Amino acid sequence: MNNYQKLFKQEIASLKGRPSLLLHVCCGPCSVYPLKLLSRYFKITIYYANSNIYPYEEYTKRLNELERYRKMLNSDIEIVIGSYDSDYQKYLSPFKDQKEGLDRCALCYMLRMKEAFAYADKNAYDYITTVMTISNHKNADYINYIGTKLSEVYKHTRFLYANLKKDGGIDKNRQLNAKLDLYHQNYCGCIYSKHLAKQI
Ligand code: SF4
Repeated sequence: MNNYQKLFKQEIASLKGRPSLLLHVCCGPCSVYPLKLLSRYFKITIYYANSNIYPYEEYTKRLNELERYRKMLNSDIEIVIGSYDSDYQKYLSPFKDQKEGLDRCALCYMLRMKEAFAYADKNAYDYITTVMTISNHKNADYINYIGTKLSEVYKHTRFLYANLKKDGGIDKNRQLNAKLDLYHQNYCGCIYSKHLAKQI
């Protein structure tokens, strides 16, 4: 198991200037601390690639909350919105009975990160990463491994390794969120996680 937060700090220490970063963001609450932290070092563009979110109204609601938070920051952070793939749930369906955090989620991270990586590489961003490692429910090893594999395909943009929940990141995110009135969803996103949340 790699220490991805150590790799993150090494990369930050080696930066020259303020490079561009395409930051995959899944929702407003998960972006609060990562945006504060990363905007110290990078010129950030948020990439909202989240066709996993079901139904579409929920996808829009989370996007609107993210937009609301971005405007609160009053910074130069921009946002690009990926297209919503209404067939997305069918890719996950072979793993519909799995609990969260296994193969279905690994595939889901990969599909969204691939979309973001392709966009970053095509548009010559210096770096790419995702806020998803801030979540206790998301496997940072899977996410960073996917970043490694996608780096072999998309050669221009460099993957920024990170485990944002480390170094107190998860607590800082919680504390910052407590001061905001952002909408907090009660399920991860896909139809299967929504059904699971109903049973709990
Ligand atoms: S639980 Fe979340 S990460 Fe896992 S497949 Fe569903 S939406 Fe994707």
